[in-house]
Amino acid sequence: MSDKDKQPLAASASASPVAETADAALQHIVDGFLHFHHDVFPQQEELFKKLATAQSPRAMFITCADSRIVPELITQSSPGDLFVTRNVGNVVPPYGQMNGGVSTAIEYAVLALGVQHIIVCGHSDCGAMRAVLNPDSLEKMPTVKAWLRHAEVAKTMVHDNCDCANEGESMKLLTEENVIAQLQHLRTHPSVASRMANGHLFIHGWIYNIETSEIRAFDADQSAFRPLNGEGPIPSATPKARF
Ligand SMILES: [Zn+2]
Repeated sequence: MSDKDKQPLAASASASPVAETADAALQHIVDGFLHFHHDVFPQQEELFKKLATAQSPRAMFITCADSRIVPELITQSSPGDLFVTRNVGNVVPPYGQMNGGVSTAIEYAVLALGVQHIIVCGHSDCGAMRAVLNPDSLEKMPTVKAWLRHAEVAKTMVHDNCDCANEGESMKLLTEENVIAQLQHLRTHPSVASRMANGHLFIHGWIYNIETSEIRAFDADQSAFRPLNGEGPIPSATPKARF
């Protein structure tokens, strides 16, 4: 969810692309599908044949619904590689509070598909995080407001522990704390907790920077986010297994 479309037109007229008509927008999407169907699909027919009746994804990827985050693109994954769940603010409701889409997808990914990794991925310039900082902007969006209560703990973390000099600093910390909070919620799901405890499931908290394409990953050992730059061991948010 981006804030860009909420900006007054006058303020961003020079930077904003010319708005498409509804017909043109749909035509663009259908043209894309036809290109995929006629030109791309035939080149990967073997892969799709293999995937026609089964999937065995490498990881579950929980991220924001923001159109600028494309999990398969940024991880260079193919169809069948990632089990993706997206929502406003990359939220994971704690177990038992709601039997909604996220909880259902987690249970299915862990128990039916046996994924070994769950990645919770936040991102820069997140409209949901901006809304958490400025709740007045949600007055006319009661459903979004209710959903983002799952990020309230992150807001309190920032409020109580940061002498943030400006909104940019608050946003950065809030985005990090939100990922940590959602990882904690993730661990309340019995299927997740049990497999983490016996060393069969690993969880990860990432933050993707839209402008630079960099990713920082939460390192539970250091209690800090570290760049995912190919140097040293891959940071993990998973505590040590007990069984
Ligand atoms: Zn977002």
